[in-house]
Amino acid sequence: MLLFRRILPLFVALCVVAAGPVAPVAAAGDYRTAVRIYFPTVKTARYSNDFANARSGGRVHGATDLFAAAGSPVYAARGGTVIWLPREESGNAGFAIQIRGDDGRVYAYYHLGRHGGRYRKAIAEGVTLFGQVSRGQLIGRLGDSGNAAGGAPHLHFEIQDDGVVDSYGTNRRNPYNSLRKAQGLAQDMNQPIAAVTTKRSRSSSSATVVPRSRSGRGG
Ligand SMILES: [Zn+2]
Repeated sequence: MLLFRRILPLFVALCVVAAGPVAPVAAAGDYRTAVRIYFPTVKTARYSNDFANARSGGRVHGATDLFAAAGSPVYAARGGTVIWLPREESGNAGFAIQIRGDDGRVYAYYHLGRHGGRYRKAIAEGVTLFGQVSRGQLIGRLGDSGNAAGGAPHLHFEIQDDGVVDSYGTNRRNPYNSLRKAQGLAQDMNQPIAAVTTKRSRSSSSATVVPRSRSGRGG
């Protein structure tokens, strides 16, 4: 018994070492679960659980669209480092920002500014490629650039998260519940989980991350 008492703490300690800290996001493995964010635009923005909606060319949405008036402020959901900031409208995404958050996740903000408009009207002053932003900082203006042109202005908000595998076998977290949580609203776990057949889906948090191409962004 004495031996057991001596070994048990050691065993527990070994388990803790074995379990992590491999990645800070590995624990929250369900792609539908909320993470703590700052609401990224005006609180009156309208949005729905549209992560699974189909898009052109067989794409799926993999994000949440927040609809509000063009020119509405867009705020950083997490502080972090700007890792993508095209100077021109970029394909589907238009004027866009990607920020590697201080939680390791990548937060993407697309369709900023007006289609055919100016970079300076889309991206806030002080936001620079590889520069730091703080949580809640104004980073841009909601708009209709990229493939949102001709439709209702909205913010395409995406959370790329190596710690989850979504229902399409990619590493994206459904932002819907995180947005709801940020507004103090009840969460909805009803997002259907499609049957996934890719190899990556079975390896959970150790999933290999394939860099996403820049051409397929947005929508
Ligand atoms: Zn979208």
